[in-house]
Formats: sequence, C-alpha cells, structure tokens
Amino acid sequence: MEPHWMFPDLDDDAVAAVGEALALADARLGGLARRLGVRGGLRSNPVGGLPYAGEVYGYLRLPEVAFGAGLYVARRCGNDLRMGPPWLVGAEIEVPCRYGEECTGHEVAAYAEGRLAYGDPLAAARALAAACDWLAGTALRESPAGWRLRNTESCAG
Ligand SMILES: [Zn+2]
Repeated sequence: MEPHWMFPDLDDDAVAAVGEALALADARLGGLARRLGVRGGLRSNPVGGLPYAGEVYGYLRLPEVAFGAGLYVARRCGNDLRMGPPWLVGAEIEVPCRYGEECTGHEVAAYAEGRLAYGDPLAAARALAAACDWLAGTALRESPAGWRLRNTESCAG
C-alpha cells in the first residue's frame, strides 16, 4: 500500500518506515485470514472526491464472528475531508446481531479497549501493525461459536 494514500503530507524520509509498518499490518491480517480459511487483508476507502483514503482497514468475516482492524481519520460527517492528525487505530472482534438490520453487530473484544489516537503517521502505522498482531493472537483463542457465546447484549425489544 502506498503510504501517501493514507498520509498525503508524509515526509519523504518517513515513507519507507510507514510503508513497512502498513505492510506488516497487512501481512499479520493476511496470516490470520489464511488460518481462518477466508480471504482478507488491508484495503482502503477514498475520501469524497479526493485521491486519498480516509481509512485503511481489514475485516475478516465468518458466519459467527468478524475480526476487524483499521486506521481512521475522525470525521464529523461526509463533507469533513480532514486527513489527520489525529489518526485513530483500533481492532475489534464482533458477532453479528440476530435482530434487525439497523444493528451492525456487537463487540465482544477490542484492542486497548477502544481506538487509540496518534499525531504521527509512523506511530499510527505501527499501532495498526500492533493492533493486527493483537487480533491475530486473540482471534483463535476461542472457536467462532465461543466468540458468539461471549455476546451478552441483545437488541431484542
Ligand atoms: Zn444488535
């Protein structure tokens, strides 16, 4: 992944190290995907009409559980085109909700109890690699059905 895609203002001397950290995050997520028997790795979404990504993320989805990790820019709405800093990093394990399409799922575990904020691209990219390492190390500690049992929330009325 080209680092300027996520960090358009990145200094030339930081490009290689940021690229390495993003590649490491991608490799860790890809390794987990292979062990789960699914396809997946880091991908990015462009922001509005800009040639930049607003987020770099990976989502590995099984029927019973999903494993996600990502690097984001906090935005108030779709017209907010800031590219950071700060950058937010997170990883989470979610189970799908049986009730209604309005609920996207319930979180049963999260890296560092939520998203972390960084003011430096290299720190953010390395944090994403660390979050993917956490995800790869945690995902297989439970069976998919076991993760599902950890969900204590219900959207049933
Ligand atoms: Zn729900």
